[in-house]
Amino acid sequence: RQAQYRRLRSKPSVSRDGVEISLLLNAGLLVDLPAMVESGAGGIGLFRTELQFMVASSFPRMNEQKGLYAKVLDAAEGRPVTFRTLDIGGDKVLPYLRAIQEENPAMGWRALRLGLDRPAILRTQIRALLHAAAGRELKIKFPMVADVSEFVQAKALVERELKHLKRHGHKTPSKLRLGVMIEVPSLIFQLEELFQQVDFVSIGSNDLFQFFCAADRGNTRVSDRFDPLNIGFMRALRRIVTRAKLAGVPVTLCGELAGRPLEAMALLALGFRDLSMSASSLGPVKAMVRSVDIGRLSARILPKLEPGSGPVDLRKELRAFAAEH
Ligand code: PEP
Ligand code: MG
Repeated sequence: RQAQYRRLRSKPSVSRDGVEISLLLNAGLLVDLPAMVESGAGGIGLFRTELQFMVASSFPRMNEQKGLYAKVLDAAEGRPVTFRTLDIGGDKVLPYLRAIQEENPAMGWRALRLGLDRPAILRTQIRALLHAAAGRELKIKFPMVADVSEFVQAKALVERELKHLKRHGHKTPSKLRLGVMIEVPSLIFQLEELFQQVDFVSIGSNDLFQFFCAADRGNTRVSDRFDPLNIGFMRALRRIVTRAKLAGVPVTLCGELAGRPLEAMALLALGFRDLSMSASSLGPVKAMVRSVDIGRLSARILPKLEPGSGPVDLRKELRAFAAEH
């Protein structure tokens, strides 16, 4: 199998009916980078910046952060990289940041919420990113946004930093793209307002599913009760991808769902064309992409999502389709 996937590395990621699918890598540390070239990924769809903070014994300074981000961009050799700002708090505890006791850390003071309340931390990170990407394209996305106004605040902070750098004569990124992780269900009901503000969106299906089904992603006793291929969640994802396309906003999905071939097949049926996943998933998912006829797949799966089409077991449908073709 491994050898078979390695042979796929230089093969295009195109479906049987000629649809190009962009397969990107989820990464977070320097050790993840060789996998981008080895696996033939088109770039990094999710760079989890908190990992540098989690393995450090004190807050990484601006220059340390900048150093890592520059190395990531160097390794990408012009391939797109999307950095996600710090997703700490909740269960991602930093030993040097005083933790606060919370009943529900996943829904607590974490990620961008913390970043907006402690702007010095976020500002330093943004400055490091802007410096690291001087003269190159920079893509930044913000985690755990629940309301469009949070993104608007984050964007204002980035713009202030950019102005500051320019005023001091520093070179700035050649292009700057700012986006949002869709991982809180409330955003699904403010997509139009969101799309007016962002350059792109990226679905964090791990968190989105946990909040959608109210099932702790780390507690298998409850998370295993619900199939991510359930009709409610599939309709939610379908709504996002359809409306993003209508609005002309690029959309990717970077949760674990993208890395499992059968689930990724469902995503193709829904209309997703950009998926980001861990290195070990790239081979199996590319093999699936190259073997599937997306037109026929969508024709079979999408009608099942229509109201009134009776009880459906999408997992069974997808397995049957895969077996037939
Ligand atoms: C997600 O929530 O799907 C995601 C990609 O982010 P993380 O797994 O780091 O929370
Ligand atoms: Mg998440």
